[in-house]
Order: sequence, then structure tokens, then C-alpha cells
Amino acid sequence: MNSAVSKVAVVGSGISGAVCASNLARNGVPVTLFDSARGPGGRMSQRRENTEDGKELLFDHGAPFFTVNKSEVLSLVQEWESRGLVAEWKEKFGSFDFVTQKFIDTEKEGLSKRFVGVPGMNSICKALCKENGVESKFGVSIGKIEWSDDENLWSLMGLDGQILGQFKGIVASDKNIVSPRITQVSGRLPPLDLSFMPELSAKLQNLPVQPCFAVMLAFAEPLTSIPFKGFSIQNSNVLRWAHCESSKPGRSTTSERWVLHSTAEYAENIIAQTGLKKPSDTTLKVVADELFQEFQNTGLSTAQPFFKKAHRWGSAFPAASVAPEEKCLWNKNKRLAICGDFCVSPNVEGAIQSGLAAALKLRDGVSCL
Ligand SMILES: Cc1cc2nc3c(=O)[nH]c(=O)nc-3n(C[C@H](O)[C@H](O)[C@H](O)COP(=O)(O)OP(=O)(O)OC[C@H]3O[C@@H](n4cnc5c(N)ncnc54)[C@H](O)[C@@H]3O)c2cc1C
Repeated sequence: MNSAVSKVAVVGSGISGAVCASNLARNGVPVTLFDSARGPGGRMSQRRENTEDGKELLFDHGAPFFTVNKSEVLSLVQEWESRGLVAEWKEKFGSFDFVTQKFIDTEKEGLSKRFVGVPGMNSICKALCKENGVESKFGVSIGKIEWSDDENLWSLMGLDGQILGQFKGIVASDKNIVSPRITQVSGRLPPLDLSFMPELSAKLQNLPVQPCFAVMLAFAEPLTSIPFKGFSIQNSNVLRWAHCESSKPGRSTTSERWVLHSTAEYAENIIAQTGLKKPSDTTLKVVADELFQEFQNTGLSTAQPFFKKAHRWGSAFPAASVAPEEKCLWNKNKRLAICGDFCVSPNVEGAIQSGLAAALKLRDGVSCL
């Protein structure tokens, strides 16, 4: 083994990759972390928008909050809370029936706490990616991940084939790194060819996913007629969820910001018409208008936003779990872990569990070299 090659590479700085990288580094395994995005967070990102008159607006346009049930995750979240990276979002939530135009089942006390990153959902990943022993590289898309039997090492390449380094072990924390679906989205082959690991490849072949559109809205005045700061919507084909972004702890309240989420059916229908490639501005405008119209059709508010924009999440939620017991996929001989919410459950907690499981495998795998 080349002694200069000591590191593990983690591809993806969503919560599973970031938790994995931090856990490895804390246990003495240095990590280089790559993400194609400009910053960390993945589906826990925060979106920065500027209005024409120069106002800056911030939105958690992916996961709005998360809940925790597992003790191993709770102890991590408590540590983040003590560092000021996470806070409990204490507002009351409701459920709105589109048919009767009334709120139903208003929630009872004692439900799981809702946590948010502070000051944005990306704060946790941001902090983890800066920890000692984690070297983070953003805006770097991994185009190819290649195993060499001769060298007993992995090589990582960028999109144009440039070598980004050799590594003892790899963590791939996004299903698109191995899924043929990426070809429909980007026209490129998946970076990691799993044909030589048929047992892993079979599990990831046709992983079903549910898409979602998020629409970001900003209003000059608070929507005081709405009795809840977050609510699900029943019996609408278009709208599934709405929340008031500016009511979360640590957010600016200079404008009232809301985020709407579409139903999966609505998003699937749009994608069926427009394809999987990046949606055009025209499509995003139509979606923003349609979701906002449905929001108005609830009759809850007549206020007009001064800002309205849609974002598409092509794979918002995995619709199956590929490793509910093991919590990540693992090839011991080649020291390859595949983690992410699609391994455990389609939420932040599932992604954290998967990242922790991948770190444990890599720690054992790399230490015995
Ligand atoms: C609209 C929406 C609402 C949600 N609501 C909730 C909720 O209420 N509660 C909850 O718990 N969860 C919710 N979720 C789900 C939650 O956000 C995800 O389960 C979790 O964030 C997944 O984390 P991850 O690390 O598995 O994947 P991701 O966050 O997707 O991270 C993968 C990362 O890999 C990077 N990457 C991929 N390919 C490459 C490459 N070739 N090179 C470099 N980098 C690459 C990506 O850029 C990305 O940053 C929601 C998600 C969405 C989209």
C-alpha cells in the first residue's frame, strides 16, 4: 500500500455523507469529501435568492425539519443542539382538508420534537464538513470512480477525466453515483460501474423514487389568517405541504417566507410531460403559479407574494429501502460503502443512520490494512 494514500473519499455532502465523513475523521481516518454542489447539504440545502430590489431571501427548500426516534441519532442531535447547530421548532402544526376547507386532526401534545438546522437546514452539514480531518471540495462533480486490482486502491476522476486522487476506501452517498437513472438526467454514465459487484448492483438497479416541486414564496406582511406555521394538505392533487420558513428559530423575519411542496403525483405528471432533464424556466414558472393558485384555493389567505419561485427535486424521496438491516451497502474486499436515506428510510434520520453505518464499516475496513 502506498503510504501517501491514507485517505477515504466520501462522495456527497448531504447529511449521510457529512455524518460519515465527520465520524471517520473523529476516529482517526482522514477524509476527502467531494460534492458537485457549491455548498454542503444536498436535500438539506438552503437556497439564497435575491429580489430585483436587492433583498436577500433564504429558504430551506428541501427538508423543512426532521424528527428523531433512534437513540444513536438523538445523541448526535443533542450534541449539535449544544453547539447551536440545531434547535427545536416549537410551532403548532395542522392538517388541512381541501374538500371541506377546514383544518382536521390538529395535533396533540407529546408528538416527536421537530428539529431544524440553525440558521439554515444546511448548518449541520456545513459544520461537519469543516471538522478536523475532513477536507471538503465543493463544485467538484465526480465523473468516474475506478478500482485498481494492481494497486488495491480507488481512483477518483472529475467530469473531464482529471485525476482527483487515489483512496483506500470510498463512500458513495448518493444513489445517482451508481444508478442508470442519472443517464436520463445528465446524459452521462453513472460514475461507479457496479457490474463487477452484482450483489450490490442488483439492489440498486430500479430503485423507485418520488419527485417533488418546492415553491418558495415571500410576503411583505405576515399571513395572520393562517392559524398554523406548518400544515399538510389532504385531498389535493397538487399541494401536499406548506410551512412558514420565517417562523423557524434563527431565521430573519424581515419578510414572511413560506414554502409549498407539491404532491408526488403532480410532480410525476409534470416530469412525464417535460422529461427528467433540468426543467426550463417556463416550466418552473407554470409550476410556481399552479402551486400558489392551489394555496390560494384553500381560502386561507388572499395575500400576494412579492417573490415566487419553484425548484424541482427529481428524486426527493426514495420509495424503497435497500438495506434496512445493515443500513448501508458494503463490499469488504474493495472497501466500498454505499449509504444514504435510500438504504434505511426516506428521511434525515434514515440518512444519518446510514452514514453512521458506512463510517463503521470503513473504519474497520481501513484499519485492518
Ligand atoms: C422537498 C423535500 C422535503 C423533505 N422533507 C423531509 C422532512 O420533512 N423530514 C425529513 O426527515 N426528511 C425530509 N426530506 C428528506 C431528506 O431531505 C433526505 O432524506 C436527506 O436529506 C437525504 O440525505 P442523503 O445524504 O441521503 O442524500 P442527499 O442529501 O441527496 O445528498 C447527496 C449528495 O451527493 C452529491 N452528489 C451526487 N452525485 C455526485 C457526484 N457525482 N459528485 C459529487 N457529488 C455528488 C449531491 O450533490 C448531494 O449533495 C425531504 C426532502 C425533500 C427534497
